[in-house]
Amino acid sequence: MSDPYAAQRDEMVDRQIAARGVSDARVLAAMRKVARHEFVPDHLKPDAYGDGPLPIGEGQTISQPYIVALMTEALLLQGGEHVLEIGTGSGYAAAVLAEIAADVVTIERIAPLAAQARTVLQRLGYANVKVEVGDGTLGWPAAAPYDAIVVTAGGPFVPPTLRNQLKPGGRLVMPVGRDSWAQSLVRVTRGSDGEDRQEELSLVSFVPLIGAEGWKDASRREAGGSR
Ligand code: SAM
Repeated sequence: MSDPYAAQRDEMVDRQIAARGVSDARVLAAMRKVARHEFVPDHLKPDAYGDGPLPIGEGQTISQPYIVALMTEALLLQGGEHVLEIGTGSGYAAAVLAEIAADVVTIERIAPLAAQARTVLQRLGYANVKVEVGDGTLGWPAAAPYDAIVVTAGGPFVPPTLRNQLKPGGRLVMPVGRDSWAQSLVRVTRGSDGEDRQEELSLVSFVPLIGAEGWKDASRREAGGSR
């Protein structure tokens, strides 16, 4: 059956993503393929290929398509990697990652969102994605180490526990900052000597990362844990 949203998806990639400088062919192909309308509530399906985040319930959002593409490109995936995502939300970014990587472990702290994402991912046939419920600031040690880690919520600092779940040469991408409206998108690359290199890529705006090595609560006034 033909996909009534395919043309909208192509337009989304051309106008919102490639036009803004995302050029990785694997990322562009994944963004053309994954059916974003399957990951949003029914009444928002007509807006699924618009240029912004959308509410998915529980006070959370599915990220703007361009930001999903930008963060995926920043992970420098070549294909075949073992990837960890923190902040499953709708499951959309996990599906994009799963189009490129060998497998994806994704963690969500809000159980009903995790259950919903698991159902959609299974229905769409993403057998290489495992959805887990928990505090993603502590990573998922059972499946560590990872080639790449992406955090899709904004924290006060890069969780040390997450850094330590990267393989040598592995990349971690996440929004970091104390401001509710703007964070820096940061990429940490783990050197083979265990030394990390950190780069700031752009300004972004994300819902808070809440957990032992994130914010203590959604008001963002106090950071949990220590660096
Ligand atoms: N990647 C998602 C998508 O494609 O729909 C969008 C994620 S949304 C912007 C951020 C998500 O991070 C929310 O669902 C929120 O509940 C989750 N989150 C916040 N802190 C978390 C934590 N410590 N561990 C796991 N998930 C967390």
